[in-house]
Amino acid sequence: MVGTVSHMATSSAVSHALRPFGTTIFSRMTELARQHGAINLGQGFPDFDGPESICVAAAEAMRAGHNQYAPMGGVPQLQEAIARDAAEGLGRTIDPAGEVTVTSGCTEAIAATMAGLLNPGDEVIAFEPFYDSYPATVAMCGATLKTVTLRPPTFAFDAARLEVAVTDRTRAVLLNTPHNPTGRVATANELEAIADVCRRHDLIAITDEVYDRLVLEGEQQHLCLAACDGMVDRTITLRSLGKTFSLTGWKIGWAIAPAHLTAAIRSAHQFLTYAVPTPLQHAAAHALSLGEPYYRTLRDEYRQRRDVLLQGLSQTPLRVFEPEGTYFVMCDHASLGHGDDLAFCRWLVETVGVAAIPPSSFYADPRSGADLVRFAFCKSLPVLEAASKRLAGLRAP
Ligand code: GLN
Repeated sequence: MVGTVSHMATSSAVSHALRPFGTTIFSRMTELARQHGAINLGQGFPDFDGPESICVAAAEAMRAGHNQYAPMGGVPQLQEAIARDAAEGLGRTIDPAGEVTVTSGCTEAIAATMAGLLNPGDEVIAFEPFYDSYPATVAMCGATLKTVTLRPPTFAFDAARLEVAVTDRTRAVLLNTPHNPTGRVATANELEAIADVCRRHDLIAITDEVYDRLVLEGEQQHLCLAACDGMVDRTITLRSLGKTFSLTGWKIGWAIAPAHLTAAIRSAHQFLTYAVPTPLQHAAAHALSLGEPYYRTLRDEYRQRRDVLLQGLSQTPLRVFEPEGTYFVMCDHASLGHGDDLAFCRWLVETVGVAAIPPSSFYADPRSGADLVRFAFCKSLPVLEAASKRLAGLRAP
């Protein structure tokens, strides 16, 4: 018995599939920020809450007795609110009961999509840098994530390079727009070219659109791959409440997909979480009813936050890639001579007192992200101003 215990203590209990992924960089940087009392511009969570009325709606839903399991696909009022909210962008009417599945944040929607669709040996193609749950959830299915690198300074989505990555094992393409961490927003031409690849190779498209309401450039807008010709029957659109309503801790997300793809997502969702907290779903339905006036204010406020951080970064030797959307900004730190992104971020948190995200874990080959650093600007203006002051001390060697 003693022998068994010591064996368990010395060898990793983590499965072969997940061992390569270690602990997510978001937890690691938030912990480092806490240890060093640094301003946390790393993990992307706002330091302010969403509208008070949404929290009141959640409390009221609890008091009104909405406290037992929700239906597996979601509370009908929320499914209806999601269908209404998405109809214009998707260019079609959505069947709330049959095409909307409410999940524990978009992260569960991603996992349920992968688990519901993929067989061992399948391949999924994504642009990199990517959200770090993509390769991990694909690996959990015994499938493989292949990547196409977005290259600075434009980080353009190149469908021709995407097509080169297609093999006879490719099952799906995973597109994130507005794109974390580059801040790129896919254009109509880019989406049309990606749709063309999906149609010709008969691929499923999975779109991670959690920053859909955070397109910050006036002349641009968020466009949906699902709305391109011939895509409706092959596209899964994933979104969430967290970023749009500054409620990342509520973990409410959803998948919108035609019935046959919804069946695949639900085949996994029913065994992953079954359902998402009922009172929060009622409150989420209220949140989505706030509509365009709320979204307009959100964008205006985020533009201000972005501009404060960009102003601060412009006083440093960092090369800044201005974002069109999301609440992140990518920079190139190579001229500062602090080594790779991990070394630079460690130095930044310890010496300058600002935490950022080293993006190398968002690449299949970590060297592709070694010169880059990501800052989040989902923070109140005084915090962004204080961070800018600290960053003003950055000097090239
Ligand atoms: N998507 C968020 C980010 O990019 C973090 C999500 C998480 O912490 N898992 O910062």
